[in-house]
Amino acid sequence: MPDPRTAAFLLAALLPLACHPAPRVTWDFEGGSLERVEQPAPDRFRLFVNGQTDQDGRNRQASWYYIRVDGAPRTTLTLDMVGLPGEYNYQPNRGAITRDTPPVISYDGKTWSHVTDFEYDNAEPHLRLRIRPQQSRFWIAHTPPYVFSDLESLRRLVRGNSAAREQIIGKSVEGRDLLLWTIGPPAAKLNIWLMFRQHAWESGSSWVGDSAVRALLGDSRLRDRILWHILPLADPDGVAHGGVRFNRRGFDLNRNWDITDPVRMPEIAAQRKAILDWRAAGNSIDFFLSLHNTETNEYLEGPAGPLADSVYAALKQRTTFDPPRPFMPVVPNAAKGRANVVQELGAAQIPAFLMEQRIALNPKLGHLPEIADRAAFGRALVETLSIVVGRTPTSARDAHVPQASAARPSATKQSSPLPRPASPHPNRGP
Ligand SMILES: [Zn+2]
Repeated sequence: MPDPRTAAFLLAALLPLACHPAPRVTWDFEGGSLERVEQPAPDRFRLFVNGQTDQDGRNRQASWYYIRVDGAPRTTLTLDMVGLPGEYNYQPNRGAITRDTPPVISYDGKTWSHVTDFEYDNAEPHLRLRIRPQQSRFWIAHTPPYVFSDLESLRRLVRGNSAAREQIIGKSVEGRDLLLWTIGPPAAKLNIWLMFRQHAWESGSSWVGDSAVRALLGDSRLRDRILWHILPLADPDGVAHGGVRFNRRGFDLNRNWDITDPVRMPEIAAQRKAILDWRAAGNSIDFFLSLHNTETNEYLEGPAGPLADSVYAALKQRTTFDPPRPFMPVVPNAAKGRANVVQELGAAQIPAFLMEQRIALNPKLGHLPEIADRAAFGRALVETLSIVVGRTPTSARDAHVPQASAARPSATKQSSPLPRPASPHPNRGP
């Protein structure tokens, strides 16, 4: 016969789990994503991350999950994130989700903080989270989500601001608007283009873009001599569905820039046309930047020269940009269908750059980047560019990307993309 006090204690400890309805995991909401869930015990879940593959079923990347748990007890739940391995540029890897990239948790779907109790096991591999819920409903995501309705809120601000104009430059595969915003005096001599969210999982780049646009709308000093051209979201379908890096027909929106195919990849076709038409009409593009996220790497890539040197140094000095290596001159594309936006625009003599920002610990920040850090960077980015671009003359050297036409495979070889050399940062490139 157990001591009655022990029995009462045991009952009190077990009651919350026994009497509580089973927690339920769902992802059927905007931006939500998971492949499936298994529940081997009442307090344990195996969450299979929904990897996405390209048009040929290759290059699986499993780097976006966004779920809601309802009916959670106040006792510890164990969530194992599994199904992580994939490929990047045709090289297999163990996935983008590691001990460096713990997820974020929210109890209101708006404010997010990083999960602190987790461990990574390289054997399966899987990331094990231990969550002691503060409320019965919570959300878990790879990074703080920025979904299509967030963009619609920003769009209302843009439409209501007399310094800004909106163009719908095309439609996505599923018919969503592809937007181009211009902010500043139409006759400005300096033109800076910013592109955000070519890849759906990279919500950090949208938080940067959101803040950059708000700064430009709110501070006329940033736009008194510059016309800013903003491509806020390259993959609205992917963001709505919780995609990773391919459009609804499987095409990577930061490859294929050397292909014009408005049916299979209307997002690239529309953006490419908007940029090149602007130039063809006799206007300048003094600086172009596409913002991305990686797991642990951070860098700026583009055409070498004085403009690159000034921007790189100024961003390092004035912002939380914390690259572990020097500026990376862009290398020309070598295989049809593999050109990224920087390679393709560089070939058209446009000073086009790409920045990767890590989602892992930023040593300069001293913590994992939060929404507030992305927002601070967005403001600092446009402030820095407004100072640096225009002060540094754009030389022909800046925009010159060596042509790789001789190295490109012939048309007959283009149907199956050639494996590229292993990336020095698998799953962590543009
Ligand atoms: Zn990307």
